[in-house]
Amino acid sequence: MAYKPGRHFLQLPGPTNVPDRVLRAMDTPTIDHRGPEFPDLTGEVIAGLKGVFGTKSDAFIFPASGSGMWEAALVNTLSPGDAVLAFDQGFFSAGWQNLATKMGLVVHSMPGDWRRALNAGILEEKLAEDTEHAYKAVLAVHNETSTGVTSDIGAVGKALRTTDHPALLMVDAVSSLGSMDFQHDEWHVDVTISGSQKGLMLPPGLGFNAVSEKALKAASDSTLPSAYWDWRAMKSFNDDGFFPYTPATNMLFGLRESLRMLREEGLSNVYARHARLAEATRRAVEAWGFQLYAERANERSDTVSAVLMQGEITADDFRRTVLDRFNMSLGGGLGRLRGQIFRIGHLGDFNELMLAGTLCGIELGFRVMDVPFRDAGIEAALSYLAETQ
Ligand code: PLP
Repeated sequence: MAYKPGRHFLQLPGPTNVPDRVLRAMDTPTIDHRGPEFPDLTGEVIAGLKGVFGTKSDAFIFPASGSGMWEAALVNTLSPGDAVLAFDQGFFSAGWQNLATKMGLVVHSMPGDWRRALNAGILEEKLAEDTEHAYKAVLAVHNETSTGVTSDIGAVGKALRTTDHPALLMVDAVSSLGSMDFQHDEWHVDVTISGSQKGLMLPPGLGFNAVSEKALKAASDSTLPSAYWDWRAMKSFNDDGFFPYTPATNMLFGLRESLRMLREEGLSNVYARHARLAEATRRAVEAWGFQLYAERANERSDTVSAVLMQGEITADDFRRTVLDRFNMSLGGGLGRLRGQIFRIGHLGDFNELMLAGTLCGIELGFRVMDVPFRDAGIEAALSYLAETQ
């Protein structure tokens, strides 16, 4: 492939653009993971992660992607044949349920509308009917990356408490952690799942589980096989500053740096930055005359906007042209949304001018492909950014 000058715009909803500071932090010699320097590194990254999860209990780091962390959450806490309740939220919620079925669990999927947030009211009814406490866990996705819809996890935790149901609450925060407010303890989440390649501004390769005391206790009774994912082995090594097997040392150097960056900016400022850039994106999309896939304004994600394609051209042909001509990657439609939507990632190490470039790349794509649009999108986004300085 011929050299393309300038920087590639990686505007997927993950992996996201990795800042130079993180790349430089990783570009150092690997150290002995059983040597004397390691406990300082382990201690700093675990303490930093707990802050981002909003938890005082445990946070574990595995060399894995988000899917591995789905599996770790299940195999540490549940037993073959256990029933779990889940929501039909989109491609990733379906993927997690599929994995749970493969692990030998019995998944009860509550019907949902991919364009809307999950319905905690239906969950409450289901839990109230379950007087025998057959459901051992509830699986929910905080930010469904495939649809650009964010759900209220506080309301899910509340449904469990209102019905006094003992099921564990497991939440996928893969595309929200580090970009949108997440409160593992306050929302009464038992296991939160996340990964390195989105809000944490790292390459793909690290997976995280935040684990409540209740979930850690459940690990003593669980009989699904867990060896590589075993939290208890992880905890006993982490307590001394080490890992039970070779960790992804240079990724941990990167994580230490990205956590320092989030702390320097301040988490509330990080969330406000994401909310503002997301709002500017949504204004551009609507001013262009396009529809956001997420139907309700208050359920729209601050990390990813899914846009329904219009005109004759498929969203995938549009994305291909934008990549070939302008060196920008946009997310595509997944599962049943293939070809119908494109997704704009606006998360991680991202600022106003990067957003302006992203929106200009999309508009250039419309122009060169003769996609019908109103010439007001860029203006709407820039005016909003200027007004909210
Ligand atoms: N959950 C969500 C919400 C995701 O967006 C993704 C990936 O994009 C995953 C889970 C799966 O994570 P991974 O691809 O890191 O295995």
